[in-house]
Amino acid sequence: IVRYEHVSKSFGDLEVLHDINLDIAPGEKVAMIGPSGSGKTTLGRMLMTLEEPSGGMITVDGEPLWHMKSKGRLVKANEAHLHRMRGNIGMVFQHFNLFPHMSVLRNVTIGPRKVLGISAEEAHERAVTMLGKVGLGDKLDVYPSMLSGGQKQRVAIARALVMNPKIMVFDEVTSALDPELVGEVLEVIKEIAREGEMAMMLITHEMDFARDVADRVIFGAEGHIVEQGPPEQIFENPQSERLQSFLSRFR
Ligand code: ATP
Repeated sequence: IVRYEHVSKSFGDLEVLHDINLDIAPGEKVAMIGPSGSGKTTLGRMLMTLEEPSGGMITVDGEPLWHMKSKGRLVKANEAHLHRMRGNIGMVFQHFNLFPHMSVLRNVTIGPRKVLGISAEEAHERAVTMLGKVGLGDKLDVYPSMLSGGQKQRVAIARALVMNPKIMVFDEVTSALDPELVGEVLEVIKEIAREGEMAMMLITHEMDFARDVADRVIFGAEGHIVEQGPPEQIFENPQSERLQSFLSRFR
């Protein structure tokens, strides 16, 4: 569903990602782990079209993200193309970015109404279903300021899910939460993962969570993919010295 081909990214002189090749299959759950600054967030932000690659190509469902076909040639994508492609991708961030002046329900219905252009009734119905799924069926009319961090993050998850994306990017969604609220958010994500068909990119510092949810774990360091494989292999039998030393910090 997603393919990174020879993708690189620099900020000025700093090369953050170097020649990344990565395929994510439909429905596959991929966890990205690695030291701070290894480029995990940047990888997700490029998929969300928040950041443009310096080189290489990213395709979603066979269609290039930052390029488009025009008269048989690949040219730089315009805003309309990016907007359309963005509809395939959902992202949940470390900070929830809810609209403070809107109720929980409106935070979730506004995307489908404005971006997908569906009717108020259908948006309402979908939003209620999603909020139920994340355990907030009784908070529809509450404002974000009344919610705990974990509840806010669950609204953010519902808001992304309601758009029915083909892939969801979860970027360190628990790192801004108080420790006692981490569990409820991870549980919700696990539940969604179990249900199925949507692919997920999980950028995380929670090793147990990565092990539980992911079909494949990717360890990146200094802009490279150093090692990847099924969770059992990555956590029980790491091959590279770098991964061994990274994991030893969590033991
Ligand atoms: P963390 O686990 O701490 O979130 P990460 O692996 O997600 O780290 P990134 O956030 O992708 O890493 O950042 C990789 C590097 O790119 C860092 O050195 C960061 O300072 C740098 N960087 C990220 N965004 C920008 C930007 N907009 N301008 C300049 N440098 C940036």
